[in-house]
Amino acid sequence: MADALFFWSPQFCGYDLGAAHPLKPERLELTYSLISSYGLFSRPDVKCASAEPVSDDDLGLVHSREYVEVVRALDKGIYPANPYAYGLDTGDNPVFPGIYEASALYSGASVQAAQAVHKGEVEAAFNIAGGLHHAHRARAAGFCVFNDPALAIARLLKESEDAKVVYLDIDGHHGDGVQEAFYDNPRVLTISLHESGQSLFPGTGFVEEIGTGDGKGFSVNLPLAPFTDDETYLWAFNEIVPPLVEAFAPDFLVSQLGVDAHFLDPLTHLCLTTTAYEKIFGEIRRLARKKWIALGGGGYSLDVVPRAWTLAFGCMVGENLADRPPGREGNLRDKESPALNAEEARYVRDFASRSVEQVRGLVFPYHGL
Ligand SMILES: [Zn+2]
Repeated sequence: MADALFFWSPQFCGYDLGAAHPLKPERLELTYSLISSYGLFSRPDVKCASAEPVSDDDLGLVHSREYVEVVRALDKGIYPANPYAYGLDTGDNPVFPGIYEASALYSGASVQAAQAVHKGEVEAAFNIAGGLHHAHRARAAGFCVFNDPALAIARLLKESEDAKVVYLDIDGHHGDGVQEAFYDNPRVLTISLHESGQSLFPGTGFVEEIGTGDGKGFSVNLPLAPFTDDETYLWAFNEIVPPLVEAFAPDFLVSQLGVDAHFLDPLTHLCLTTTAYEKIFGEIRRLARKKWIALGGGGYSLDVVPRAWTLAFGCMVGENLADRPPGREGNLRDKESPALNAEEARYVRDFASRSVEQVRGLVFPYHGL
């Protein structure tokens, strides 16, 4: 059995929102290339697979038929009367040639990743083109057309009637679309760590959002202050994530590994380094217990994204990668880190402490903690 499966199709780069858009397809190519340079795809325990477009049946698990048809028609140049009603043709979500095809492809890879782990073919599967967590049932948002994390989770729930899934989202932005898709569902525990909605898109993800109906206590949000650094992030992560995941005892762990919480990312104000990311990836691997579906997500620095996701894949296959990529210039890990002054450090720590305490009070009792 292979340990890990990696999805790659050059057509992933067809999800191209335009030259001026921050979500650049190059970040995927650069990641694939950097992982290749370490020879990880030649390991006997690693499989590479190309993506297949998601089926209509699978799309219907999360998205309205009407919305899917609108996106499909756009591929043919047919615009709805009011594209804005579907979140499309906006600055964040421009219409581009092949929008349906490209969206179906990254979504298909996430569903395939879920199936491969579900069938026990691999212990971990990584779709770097996925993790588009802001899409809603009938509306594009935040650079996302289809919500592939929700599609992968919905497929896992459909495959086995009593399966339980943890969705863990470390993107700098709140995983609002995934939370919304399973807000009343106690079979899916969603946990999102992100920069507070007070200062960042999409303006949600407050601690008080804990789910509804039977799903109450199964949506978890850990908002953090701008400039939160490795030390505070890791402290908050460790206070909340392992106890909840271990108490919930999921059959599968779906992680959104957006790396826009990095200090060099141009879109958020969080201040993580690769030191924190390596620790987080290692902890996610442990918590996933060989049932790990990993998806990409945000990350807008072309320097950071390939390095961080190469570290993630190295972690998946259990290899401690050399800091100097073979035959290349540069380093895999950060050589500098942001310096917070004493006042900033205290502020971010106090903010995180409040969030942690609130989650403990509002959510932990639902899990016997
Ligand atoms: Zn993000």
